[in-house]
Amino acid sequence: MTKRLYYDDLFQMQFEAQVVELTTDAERPAVVLDQTAFYPTAGGQPHDTGTLAGVPVVDVVERAGDGAVLHVLDGPAPVVGSMVAGLVNAVRRFDHMQQHTGQHILSQACLKRWNAQTVGFHLADTYSSIDLDREPREPVDQVMVQVQEIVNGVVFGDLPVRAWFPTEGELAALRLRKPAGAHERIRVVQVEGFDVTACGGTHVTATGQIGLVVVRRWERYKGGLRVEFLCGGRALRDYCFLATTVRDLATELSVADTDLADMVRRRLAEAQEYHHLAEVRGNALLDYEARELVATAEVHGSLRLVLRVYEDRPFEEVRRLALRLTEEPGAVALLAARGDKVQLAFGRGPDLDLDMNAILRAACQVLGGKGGGRPHLAQGGGPDAAHLDEALAVARRHVLGA
Ligand SMILES: [Zn+2]
Repeated sequence: MTKRLYYDDLFQMQFEAQVVELTTDAERPAVVLDQTAFYPTAGGQPHDTGTLAGVPVVDVVERAGDGAVLHVLDGPAPVVGSMVAGLVNAVRRFDHMQQHTGQHILSQACLKRWNAQTVGFHLADTYSSIDLDREPREPVDQVMVQVQEIVNGVVFGDLPVRAWFPTEGELAALRLRKPAGAHERIRVVQVEGFDVTACGGTHVTATGQIGLVVVRRWERYKGGLRVEFLCGGRALRDYCFLATTVRDLATELSVADTDLADMVRRRLAEAQEYHHLAEVRGNALLDYEARELVATAEVHGSLRLVLRVYEDRPFEEVRRLALRLTEEPGAVALLAARGDKVQLAFGRGPDLDLDMNAILRAACQVLGGKGGGRPHLAQGGGPDAAHLDEALAVARRHVLGA
């Protein structure tokens, strides 16, 4: 079993150790040392990175069974028996210590506030989250404001954080936040006067080191809540991001940042109104265009044939025009939009018996494509734009021959 130096000194980032074994982890070279300051991935906290004898350590894994710590190397491994210098990436480690200790306090605050137990913890590269087993009865936004006050109160109090292996008698007397799992030796992390829990992770030594703790967002999850939070350096970077975003938007909209939300809501409502207006006008224009097309259509008995090819007109508009023409008694619309490819929209009035679906399929075949729809309205297309005239001629023959 590898001696873990971070149990005694959480801020020891340099160490000397002897190589006791060369092995592999998922086909990557790995070494086992007699002692290490590297934290292996466990309990929701990701592993440390750094170097061993100058070679990058890209993963640190705890071996099941004997508890040996495997240092996965991206380079040549040192020989067994040699002494090597280890260097842990202190920035990454300290970030993990801030997030993990912050998590303990946040979990206890949720327990105190509405008796929610933490059933999951995830420490990702840019954010962290806990999963709680129940929702509060009150609106979550309000509760989260209170929870953040509790958590940051503990931070501002700069309470000592202690991690140790208690004796069995000592352990029995401690009131753990939740029952400890089955381990040979239970390690306990205590935020003085606030929280005691079993944990093997790395933590700060006083709560002031965590810095600000913020709840970034939350969502309902498996009957409870998933709460995303940021501590210390991450909270600072997020604040800077939010502040820059708010300042830039406020400048762009020429309002004070305190008026930004109202202004954005007003602008969105306006945009919706304009959109609605544009739709109404667009429909009126389409209506006008449809009547114009029927008035100038090719007349064959009671049938009004509208055959048009549009260059670079949005097909959606052409399709809506064909749809509008299905309302006109006697009308047959054979409409095409020609761009990179050809798209067709065929429709006919409600009083006619033509199967526009079949006619469209025949035309699409000429274009080397396909399509479909219903007897009164169908759409499709094909890549062979050079044969558009022929395709429309085929459709026209079907219409007039029927
Ligand atoms: Zn923990």
